[in-house]
Amino acid sequence: MTDSTGQYIAAIDQGTTSSRCMIFDHAGTVIASDQKEHRQIFPQAGWVEHDASEIWDNVRAVAAGAMAAADLTGKDIAAVGITNQRETTLVWDRSSGKPIYNAIVWQDTRTDRIVTALGDGDANKYTATTGLPLATYFSGPKVKWILDNVDGARAKADAGELCFGNMDTWVLWNMTGGTDGGLHYTDPTNASRTLLMDLDTLQWDEGICADMGIPVSMLPEIKSSSEVYGTGRERGPFRGVPIAGILGDQQAATFGQACLSPGEAKNTYGTGNFVLLNTGTEKVMSKNGLLTTVCYKIGDQPTIYALEGSIAVTGSLVQWLRDNLGMISDAADIETDARSVEDNGGAYFVPAFSGLFAPHWRADARGAIVGLTRFVNKGHLARAVLEATAYQTREVIEAMNADSGVDLEVLKVDGGMVVNELLMQFQADILGVDVVRPVVAETTALGAAYAAGLAVGYWASEEDIRENWAEDKTWTPSMDEDQRAKLYAGWKKAVTRTLDWVD
Ligand code: ADP
Repeated sequence: MTDSTGQYIAAIDQGTTSSRCMIFDHAGTVIASDQKEHRQIFPQAGWVEHDASEIWDNVRAVAAGAMAAADLTGKDIAAVGITNQRETTLVWDRSSGKPIYNAIVWQDTRTDRIVTALGDGDANKYTATTGLPLATYFSGPKVKWILDNVDGARAKADAGELCFGNMDTWVLWNMTGGTDGGLHYTDPTNASRTLLMDLDTLQWDEGICADMGIPVSMLPEIKSSSEVYGTGRERGPFRGVPIAGILGDQQAATFGQACLSPGEAKNTYGTGNFVLLNTGTEKVMSKNGLLTTVCYKIGDQPTIYALEGSIAVTGSLVQWLRDNLGMISDAADIETDARSVEDNGGAYFVPAFSGLFAPHWRADARGAIVGLTRFVNKGHLARAVLEATAYQTREVIEAMNADSGVDLEVLKVDGGMVVNELLMQFQADILGVDVVRPVVAETTALGAAYAAGLAVGYWASEEDIRENWAEDKTWTPSMDEDQRAKLYAGWKKAVTRTLDWVD
């Protein structure tokens, strides 16, 4: 408990496409919010970067914007939580606080060769320790790339002059000091995505760090996901407010969806899709291409683990249609186009833009549209785009059922794509289980708010979180079994066409 009298909790959600600040009340209702997109930088094929200074400017602006919208000052806020795009990797100079290179985004595949060389024929070399296969997705190899490729970086790193952080650490550093030297902390959910953390001890694994040539001195201290790390700096809207929660975005959504007991799962439909299944204090190692990851660690309570199915491209395929093809002018148009036809007309779109993540883990895959005939029109392609999200989700849920030995009975959903009713119905149809959307769809920010609020006694226990969760809408399967099997078989065949594309 602190002596804060604040009536609200603030959450910073530093996402892949935008940064948001949301203010919540005790019932978990959104009081105010502000949001700003940042640039996606594509220097060459397969590379994706963000300008971390732009991101910090946006975080500051949306924090001030949300506070102003509800006419609040720091005194009204009991605590701030941070949630973030995971794995996205930044290295900055400890004394100047300036990044030495753009943030390398989780979707970026430039570390392909580094990852292959590290594995030396065994992609699961570090899986027993970290829960992760060697893949371009994770932070460690991205840090290695920066140290190998930015002039003078390795010498500075060896001299202790550089800091590594994911965006949680970058935001916390700047909120608590920035150029004056902020706190250099992270939480176990973010650290569990670096390929550098031991899942049992929640500490950096020195052997793996040495393999990647990463000095441990540049890594943040791993705290819990819910405790008071420090307070907001003098200049800024959260002056003196406790910063008390950090959760990677997918774990935050799991928390915000109240998946707090073993066997509960959620699927977030954003840039990519991420299904997380709470496995409690048990660390389940996947035999079917899923990740084992930290779900959350509240203060000094035992670590809660999750199985995760990560899909790289779902909502970003809709963006790609809008930005790269100009086929739609707004994301919502995809549903209008898809509704102009009955079905996919035989077309499948496998968006393997960053290779394929779970359950395949194939860096050599690239995207493909297959099954085209002269009959196929814009509506069919729009359907194929939306269906791709649902098929990919089925693949990871099947892996999850196989790993856990229990079939999922209901899927809780959230994220930017769940406003798409056609997609939600198709998801229920292709899975054969109910799909449920909660009233507060902003579960990522809400989860970070819960982590922060628990740390300062704003919410008393996880029971409060369960009580706040409320259903908005349920979609029930209505497709017959033959049709479901036929469509899914078509997808499986389409996936095989994308493999072995890159040498
Ligand atoms: P993130 O948190 O990963 O930045 P969001 O949860 O904000 O993402 O979701 C944004 C994604 O949702 C974008 O990729 C966008 O293309 C997609 N999206 C938004 N509205 C729709 C819609 N009506 N139909 C389908 N996709 C949508």
